[in-house]
Amino acid sequence: MDQPKTASAVVIGGGVVGCSIAYNLARRGLRDVVVIERETVGSGTTSKAAGGIRVQFPTETEIRFSLEAIRVFERFQDEFGVDPGYKKIGYLFLLSEEQQLRAFEPRIALQTRLGADVRLVTPDDARKLVPALRVDDLIAAVWGPGDGLAGPAEVTAGFARRARELGVKIIEGVRVQSLETAQRRVSGVTTTTGAISSALVINAAGPSAARVARLAGVDLPVHPRRRHIFFTEPFPAIPGPVPLTTDVTSGFYFRKELEQVLLSPGDVEDIGEDFDVPMDPGKVEDAVQKAIQRVPIIGDARIAGGWAGLRPLTPDDHAIIGWAPGVEGFFQAVGFGGHGFQHSPATGRYVAEWLLDGKPSLDLSLFDPGRFGRPRAGGGLKVDAE
Ligand SMILES: Cc1cc2nc3c(=O)[nH]c(=O)nc-3n(C[C@H](O)[C@H](O)[C@H](O)COP(=O)(O)OP(=O)(O)OC[C@H]3O[C@@H](n4cnc5c(N)ncnc54)[C@H](O)[C@@H]3O)c2cc1C
Repeated sequence: MDQPKTASAVVIGGGVVGCSIAYNLARRGLRDVVVIERETVGSGTTSKAAGGIRVQFPTETEIRFSLEAIRVFERFQDEFGVDPGYKKIGYLFLLSEEQQLRAFEPRIALQTRLGADVRLVTPDDARKLVPALRVDDLIAAVWGPGDGLAGPAEVTAGFARRARELGVKIIEGVRVQSLETAQRRVSGVTTTTGAISSALVINAAGPSAARVARLAGVDLPVHPRRRHIFFTEPFPAIPGPVPLTTDVTSGFYFRKELEQVLLSPGDVEDIGEDFDVPMDPGKVEDAVQKAIQRVPIIGDARIAGGWAGLRPLTPDDHAIIGWAPGVEGFFQAVGFGGHGFQHSPATGRYVAEWLLDGKPSLDLSLFDPGRFGRPRAGGGLKVDAE
């Protein structure tokens, strides 16, 4: 496809976030939206996601993002003509320390108040849900039966397909090399195939977000960190479906994927921000050790393969959504960490509202790009789940 010379909006990045934003802008009637993707649609970190969707977040804004995602995934096939493989398998968090329990209790209250079905259950209840679990050292578990999973590739393809039908130009194999600004206002981008003038540029570059922001002289604390996922050979000894089960103390999580078991050591590692993320075979041992601690029978399974991807993390684990400080016309939708897939439907909707109505219908101040460096209240236990 030929690259146009002008656009009403240029979205940098054709991952699940960029495609959702482009779709929502076009659905709301904006014409001449262009997405620039240096590889192919959905081939970035979106292709590495485990597909998990949970309402079990600590803040009202994020819980509302998840509830919006569930609404979209439930009717995705009708709206996008693509089966997203959406299944409510539930999320189960295993707690072994008092401090974890104290941190989870107010979250469960908030999630319940917002209409989510999340319950504190006993270790024995957890074993009824997942009979292979070792529970003797647990003090409780948190069960969200409405949580689940969907296919990141299918969802991204659905957004991209409808976006194209609505007139969005998605240009693949082309990289944004520079951002043009005049008097601290964006005037366009220059790609490997030429210039596009546009008064609105949206950074949806996933793990490369900080590099893209620097093109306009903006510092963004988006730190890509590697995480591994491994899968076993078919393993009928753990019959499916299995909720996405996270051991909060070790970070290990697993679930069933068809006949195989999918497992992650919950690793967080700085290896830079290259597109190709190498897998470290040494992490297999880490994953298996943590797995055997929690699910002893996994010791009988054989690891058949795995992959690694980058999670674009921020210092407070919340995304960055809003105008870049100091550069007019440069919008950020980045830093989604381990939950960018599930929050992509809400991100697309609220970003489109913000850009077309002047303000989103949900308060997004949690994601304010200017918040870093300001003192913030709270903090509390970090639960590093997908
Ligand atoms: C192992 C793992 C498991 C995960 N599991 C889950 C999960 O269960 N649930 C969940 O919700 N999330 C999960 N995530 C997180 C999720 O994958 C990300 O948050 C999400 O995919 C981010 O989407 P994105 O569109 O912002 O990024 P990307 O998919 O990386 O898209 C950004 C795109 O920008 C392009 N780009 C970058 N720079 C340029 C440039 N200069 N010019 C043109 N194009 C450019 C890239 O090629 C890329 O395709 C997981 C992540 C990992 C690594």
